[in-house]
Formats: sequence, C-alpha cells, structure tokens
Amino acid sequence: MSSFLELGLDDWLNKQCQSMGIAKPSLIQEHCIPPILEGLNCVGCAKTGSGKTAAFALPILQKLSVDRYGPYALVLTPTRELAFQIADQFKILGKEINVNVSVITGGMDMVKQGHDLTVKPHIVVSTPGRLADHFESHDTFSLKKIKFLVLDEADRLLEDTGFAEQLEIIFKKLPEKRQTLLFSATMTPAIRDLQVSSEKKVFAWTQDAEVMTVEELDQRYVLMNADVKDAYLMHILDSHITEKPKSSVIIFTSTCKYAQILSMMCEELGFPCVSLHSMLPQKFRLSGLSKFKSDQVKILIATDVASRGLDIPTVDLIINHNVPNRPRDYVHRVGRTARAGRGGLAITLVTQFDVHLTKSVEAYINTKLSEHPTNEPEVMKILTEVAVARREAEIRLDERDFGEKRSINKRKKLLLEGKDPEKEEEERLAKKAKRGQGKSKEQKVAEKQERKEKFKNKFSMKKKNSKSEGK
Ligand code: AMP
Repeated sequence: MSSFLELGLDDWLNKQCQSMGIAKPSLIQEHCIPPILEGLNCVGCAKTGSGKTAAFALPILQKLSVDRYGPYALVLTPTRELAFQIADQFKILGKEINVNVSVITGGMDMVKQGHDLTVKPHIVVSTPGRLADHFESHDTFSLKKIKFLVLDEADRLLEDTGFAEQLEIIFKKLPEKRQTLLFSATMTPAIRDLQVSSEKKVFAWTQDAEVMTVEELDQRYVLMNADVKDAYLMHILDSHITEKPKSSVIIFTSTCKYAQILSMMCEELGFPCVSLHSMLPQKFRLSGLSKFKSDQVKILIATDVASRGLDIPTVDLIINHNVPNRPRDYVHRVGRTARAGRGGLAITLVTQFDVHLTKSVEAYINTKLSEHPTNEPEVMKILTEVAVARREAEIRLDERDFGEKRSINKRKKLLLEGKDPEKEEEERLAKKAKRGQGKSKEQKVAEKQERKEKFKNKFSMKKKNSKSEGK
C-alpha cells in the first residue's frame, strides 16, 4: 500500500492524517485520490467504513489550498447527521488552511444559514431539501463557481424519488464545468447509468468484494415468536451490557414511533438511551447523537435515518429490532460497527414473519448469519415487566399525541373518513381524563418509581448472581 505522499498529497495533509491516527491510505483512498487530483470525475464504491469521506475531502482540500475562494465545493448527503459528520472531517483535515465549512440542513435556523451562505464558505455540506429551499427563497448567494460537486451516499440520493425534484433545482444552479464525485457503499443501476451517460471521462472504482460486509463483523440472528420480541431485545441488551459495560449499542427499528416507544421502554426498564428519528426536532437529534458519540449514553435507538455513514468507533453491537425490507439497508445498518478494521457484532431479531426477509439478506450479503445463543428461562422471567413497560410507553406516547406530522396526518385521515377531528379530540381527552381519575400526581410518580425499582431488580438479579458465583 502506498503512502499519502505517494498519492500526490501535500505534506501538510499527510501530517494532518498522521495526527488523526490515519497512517496509510485505505483502498478507496489509494485508488480514488490520484484521479481526483488529476481532475477526473470519479465514482467510488466501497464497503461502509472504508474511509470514503477522506477519499474526497483530502484532494478537495489540496486543490482548495492553492486556489482559495468560496464556495469551492458542494457536498450533498441524504441525512442531516451525516452532513454534520462530513463537515467535521473537513474542518479537522483542513485545519491547517483554516477551512470555512457551512452546514445547510433542515431543522436549523434558515436565516442564520442564509447569512452563512452569503459570506462564501469554502465548503458547503448540505441535505438537498434545505439547499433547494434556499435557492428558491433568496438569491443572495451563488454556487456558480464551485469546482467540485460531491454526492455522498449517492445511491440513496439518486434512487430516492423524494430527492429528485430538489436535486433538479440545485443542479440548475451549478456550473457545467466542475468535477463530480459520487461515493456510495453500494453500486446501483442509477449510478451505473450516470457513468455511462456522462460526457466527460469518469474514473470508476469498485471494491472487489463477493461479500458486502466486512470480515471483522460477526453476524448473528435470534429466532423468536413476535409476541416475545421485546423481552428478547431487553435480554440481549442486558446480557451484552453486563458482559461489556463500556460497549455502545445501536438498536435499529422500522418506524419513528417504534424508535420512540422502544426508547421510552428502555428508559423505564433502567437502560438510559437516546433516540434518533425524523420526527424529533433537529436540536434533540443532534444533542442525542452527541451524547451517544461522547459516551455519556451507551444506547442509541434509531430508524434508518442513522443507518448511513455515521462513524462512531465505540459501537460494537448493532441490534436489528426488525429485519429491513431492503437487504441494502441491512448492509448500511450493520456497517455502523466493525469500522476501519475493528471488530463488531450484529444481532438481528427474526420472528416467524420475517424468515423470508432474512433469507434475502443472507443471499445479498453472500453470508449465512449464525445463531446467537440466548437463555430462554431468563427471557421468560422478564416477559411481564417488559410487556408492561411497553404498554406504558404506548399510552404515554398516545397521550402526547406523538409528533406534529402524525397529528396532521391523523386529522387528514379523520376528514377522509368523514369524521370530525375536533369531536374525536374531545373524546380522546375525555378518555384520558377518565384514565387518570382518582390518582394524584404524587401517587402516579410513586407508582412509576416502584415499577422502575422492580424492573431494576429483575435485570440486576443476574449480575448479583454472577457476582456471588464468582466469589
Ligand atoms: P468513512 O468511511 O469516511 O465514514 O470513514 C470511517 C472511519 O475510518 C473514520 O473514522 C475515518 O477517520 C477512518 N479512516 C479514514 N481513512 C482511514 C485510513 N486510511 N486508515 C484508517 N482509518 C481511516
């Protein structure tokens, strides 16, 4: 393997990599950096966690250092959290040249973003929706002189129809003469078509891999009845945390509502956690993620919004609370562990309804998942407590009327059904008041505390037993 200097990068960038603990280029960097420096368009596909961000950030920073103006490069990425992560990498790698990076995503102050854009940052990292909004609402900034356009997680940007309209608005505002760089963990027909239709010469590199996931990843499944899935989830979580208290865990689930319910359930059962899904306000998304990244909280419960690109080195267990419908999403989810050569474990909870989905995943990754051992009698002991905690979480969520979007959709649905949303709301509130009747606030708090203690004892029982056995 060559060194960063041999790839044509300047000494200051090489030093910056060394100071970050990046000693040698990864395969994608080795292959893609020289053609990008030469001025070619580039498509790079490699397994997740293989150093894709630095593969485009390093050559862009090198070129920027000799021709410093802004905006010099636009990076588009599908999720807000990824935008912040990419911006951080640019800032660290480009510290030496004081690189100015702006993050333009939904959920953040649009006026401030508008101002940031007018002061001409060197690098703009954005999700397509918000950038398109800026273009449509004011013309106080221009990206007409950018030298680079990067599509990170290009497969998702190009295939998700939700982005098509926004990308069209953005692309019209970019110069024809520019370098376009596409990076993705998975090669899809949309990316292949783009290579074929491009007028300019495109350098394309795909990591030669029969197996889509990395060797360091231990991939397992647990088969159970759907009714007892949550109890298995808590059992697996408890066993893992007991065995490895320093470890961080991500639990992926299918919907925002499930993510919220599972996080409330985990909290109730004495497992502090944060959640990440698109129905949370952006400031909660970012603060939750930063608590998780900085190790203040060890459990993150998320939808697929967190499945792409997030790079958190301490994560050594991924639990799939559901089997993803698209095998590609499985690859992205489990790619949050076993990154940059480290080991990791992924456990997928499989019920009687998802055996076929699991088979599709196995076929796609060309690997058989192995069975993860569990202790059924232990699971049975916590069954009732977990079910009660889940039910409690569902009721509380219902009372909170989870999320504004959900409420709007609910109103639309009621109207379509010919019902009166106001009347329905009155009935809901009446029911809620009836449920709480006869109980004071203090009584409710005391009951909650009692339940928490009970759960805590159940889960810590094993720890106490194993301690006394060890004596
Ligand atoms: P990425 O695929 O860009 O999300 O990068 C995954 C992780 O690998 C990040 O923590 C990078 O800092 C790290 N990384 C990037 N390049 C290298 C390299 N050449 N050697 C080791 N780690 C790297």
